[in-house]
Amino acid sequence: MAPDGQILPPNTYDAEPIPEAARAEIDRLLSSGDLFRYTAAKDAPVALLEEEFAALLGSRYALAVSSCSAALFLSLKALDLPRGARVLIPAFTFAAVPSAIVHADCTPVLVEVGENYRIDLEDFAAKLPDASAVMISHMRGHTSDMDRIMELADAAGIPVIEDAAHSLGTVWGGRNIGTIGKVGCFSFQSYKLVNAGEGGILVTDDPEIAARAVIMSGAYEENWKKHPGFQNSFCHWQNRLPLYNLRMQNLSAAVIRPQLPEIARRVADGRRNHDYMASLLNGSGLLSVPAALPPEERAPDSIQFNLSGDWTDAQALAFQRAAKQRGVSVQVFGLSEGNARAFWNWQFLGQTPDLPRTRAMLMRACDVRLPARLTIPELDVMANALIGAARSARA
Ligand SMILES: *Cc1c(COP(=O)(O)O)cnc(C)c1O
Repeated sequence: MAPDGQILPPNTYDAEPIPEAARAEIDRLLSSGDLFRYTAAKDAPVALLEEEFAALLGSRYALAVSSCSAALFLSLKALDLPRGARVLIPAFTFAAVPSAIVHADCTPVLVEVGENYRIDLEDFAAKLPDASAVMISHMRGHTSDMDRIMELADAAGIPVIEDAAHSLGTVWGGRNIGTIGKVGCFSFQSYKLVNAGEGGILVTDDPEIAARAVIMSGAYEENWKKHPGFQNSFCHWQNRLPLYNLRMQNLSAAVIRPQLPEIARRVADGRRNHDYMASLLNGSGLLSVPAALPPEERAPDSIQFNLSGDWTDAQALAFQRAAKQRGVSVQVFGLSEGNARAFWNWQFLGQTPDLPRTRAMLMRACDVRLPARLTIPELDVMANALIGAARSARA
């Protein structure tokens, strides 16, 4: 708050404090020096996290690793795809996703994304026959039509990996996002719902995929025995797969575990904030927030909206600047220099395809962080700043 009692726009990059309960466990780990997940014979914090996370999601297996990108990479390796296999991804995602595919010696194939940030099902269906796997990024927590995707992929016998990095707590037709495809991958990087600085986890019901992923994550010798819920399918893979050493360490698990009981509250608050802000922005006639799909219950910690009507690039940039002057940081995905979510910046792919629908969307789609801890008065200030900036940019 300013001295005159006025509410200022919040810093949306500030994190929520880590629950107090983490301290005792971190102290214990620091005094014992027991930081490696495989030192203890059982009940290491990482193994407990896996058990708790699998139960939370309703999955048979969970494997905690160093990042969601590592989880995506291991998912592809666990599927044992041939070198160069084509993997479909929505063209609206974070650069780390096509990077994980390149890392796994596969070829990312970009699929068009519509104005509502979801994958274009026509383009998806057209590109599916040449694909060996599908990696669906629920980008910014926007869920693509998982019923249609699973129907098409199942009919073609093509496995689906869910990149649920930003979708922890999202529900689709009563099912947890991340448990619909063969594998689901989540992130604990600081800008996600659960913050460990870095970290990731994958969930699956498939014992072979789980076994392969566990070994390749770095469960050397007989360390797979320290993973909860695993049977002897592991013996078969021992020493027959490379060890990529993408393990999580105990300190990360100690930071994550006390946040698991906070998820439900963060999801409820995030959804309340998002929907409140969406109604204000939609009322402006200048900014429009695409609706959730009917089966989708979202868990947002950011808001995306489109500049509605005909805006020039100059007006869109003026909007970005005017919002900044009013204290709200907003990015037009396609207009911020070098944005890692704009597919034409993924030069590591060599040639990037021409995807006019996705490009048009990215040139007018805006991104604002909206952490769950924000209050309604803070949201009012932010919405007024955004709407004021839009009016001035259009004037
Ligand atoms: C954050 C994010 C990732 C990468 O997660 P890391 O844990 O940082 O590797 C991948 N996909 C999406 C959609 C993300 O939001």
